[in-house]
Amino acid sequence: MPPAGRGPLADDTPLPAAYAAAAPALNRPALAGTRRCDVAIVGGGFSGLSAALHLAQAGCAATVLEAREIGWGGSGRAFGQVVPYAKHDERHILASFGPDWGERLITGLAGGPDLVFRLIAEHGIECEPVRTGLIFAAHARSAEPALERRAVFWQQRGADVAMLHDAALATMTGTEFYKAALLDRRGGSLNPLAYARGLARAALAAGAAVYENTRALALLPTAQGWTLRTPAGELAARRVVLATDAYTDDLWPGLRRSLLPLRGYQLVSETQPEDIRRRILPGGQALTDTRRLYSGVRMRRDGRLHVSVDGPPFSNRGAADAGLATARVRALFPDIAPPRWEHSVAGWVGMTADQYPHVHRLAPGLIAALGLSGRGIAFATLLGREISLRVLDRPQQDWMLPDTKLRPIPAGPLARLLLPALIGWYRARDTVELRRGR
Ligand SMILES: Cc1cc2nc3c(=O)[nH]c(=O)nc-3n(C[C@H](O)[C@H](O)[C@H](O)COP(=O)(O)OP(=O)(O)OC[C@H]3O[C@@H](n4cnc5c(N)ncnc54)[C@H](O)[C@@H]3O)c2cc1C
Repeated sequence: MPPAGRGPLADDTPLPAAYAAAAPALNRPALAGTRRCDVAIVGGGFSGLSAALHLAQAGCAATVLEAREIGWGGSGRAFGQVVPYAKHDERHILASFGPDWGERLITGLAGGPDLVFRLIAEHGIECEPVRTGLIFAAHARSAEPALERRAVFWQQRGADVAMLHDAALATMTGTEFYKAALLDRRGGSLNPLAYARGLARAALAAGAAVYENTRALALLPTAQGWTLRTPAGELAARRVVLATDAYTDDLWPGLRRSLLPLRGYQLVSETQPEDIRRRILPGGQALTDTRRLYSGVRMRRDGRLHVSVDGPPFSNRGAADAGLATARVRALFPDIAPPRWEHSVAGWVGMTADQYPHVHRLAPGLIAALGLSGRGIAFATLLGREISLRVLDRPQQDWMLPDTKLRPIPAGPLARLLLPALIGWYRARDTVELRRGR
């Protein structure tokens, strides 16, 4: 039975058919009766599953409770880019976190794709991994200096990062739309639902327990730790981790209000003819640009074009704006026929006010880690490992992120009201810059 009510957890949009075929569902049972474990993890996405895997590998009895099925949240609906960055650039990270934590976060994030692709290799996860890099293009001339700064920053650290221009860029992307782009060979892409299911299988093999269709309904302190009440049972644990990102409900007071859930969309086309498949992004890189709103494009291995696009930001029933997606494809690839969109993907992104994920110590033995702000395949996998370090009482110098105080998102209800206007403003600015700036 899906949870009743409104909000992301009540969103019944099926998992993307375009992803589901690559890896079978786990079909784990729901929790029934009374169970006990060292660490209970609420949320079966990348954060919770990576935490379960790392904890189980360290000999800790970890149990994942997932309200729907593994990967049901943002994890099974992501666009698929494995990115070595946060939302903000390195200067912003250093200014926000200071030199010590800032450096740890920058270095930690840079290792995110290594961690993801290592887990895939070690656990034999079949999730269509491609690691030929990511292309970040400048949507306007004015956006080029920031990309160049980023390239220099990473080149000085020995990373395989380069600026591409004009003809070389056109050959790599199949479009003459952009004049400059950063190619970051550390990143890549994958099928996110298959990756989530593979992480869950790896956690099970390492000794973790995983229950699906098991929503944690209440969280109660006990003398030994905590008890989680579920529809048909109870789970007692010494420690509890809440890894529920945008799908956070009212399990812990105030947690839901610490982020703003926004719904993101993608469209997947019919299979493209062979000559187009060979011409568009022939190296398999995913392409995004510096505009404010969605810009992702990739050519999937099965020859389908896959684009990220906007749609109604707060509705469980909203549909992707197919007109916008088609217009973007026509602007990039004017000589191909407008694609027929065969699959749509919709899922919720958990935005925090500063667009960094937050780790909260809510009470003794209770940790929350959430607010990935749309950067979560590599970052949430790292966050799961980060949670495991805290649960295992590893010293603070091993951490990548500091703990944060739980705070409601400033002017949360107002932000919800103003956001549609802000999105309209961003779109208008993107459009003007795209017309004038190239
Ligand atoms: C449309 C879209 C595109 C994206 N594209 C990218 C991309 O290309 N690259 C990238 O890096 N990131 C991307 N992201 C972001 C990324 O998917 C997320 O940051 C990441 O999946 C978050 O993982 P998580 O495990 O923290 O949360 P989630 O995957 O959202 O998992 C939370 C889980 O908690 C469960 N839950 C909630 N409450 C309860 C409860 N009370 N009891 C039990 N279970 C509960 C939910 O059912 C859900 O499965 C995208 C996200 C979306 C939505």
